[in-house]
Amino acid sequence: MPVSNEELKQRLVEERARLTEQVSRLGENEYRGAGYGNHIADDATETYEQAKGISLRRNEASLLWQVEHALQKFDQGTYGICEACGVPIDRARLKALPYALYCLECKSLLEGGG
Ligand SMILES: [Zn+2]
Repeated sequence: MPVSNEELKQRLVEERARLTEQVSRLGENEYRGAGYGNHIADDATETYEQAKGISLRRNEASLLWQVEHALQKFDQGTYGICEACGVPIDRARLKALPYALYCLECKSLLEGGG
């Protein structure tokens, strides 16, 4: 049975809540970490952990942007349409990645792979 738009939208709303929480929590950790400036136990580890936190947050933030963008497309009536070539994105792909903005073909072209 094909997945309905309502179901995909519901999943996006849930994903947005999860990511919003995660991004703000990672931001807090970073802020809290900065307060421990005087307590330098292992500078290298701390820097590494900090960098890891930042890159994770960037990742989550860009995913959050994608989820929000996909939700906007529901309002515009363009959800499930590839942003590059304008053809409907495969339903199975949307089921796996509700926030997919491109069809598989355009995605692989954009990533320069395959
Ligand atoms: Zn496409």
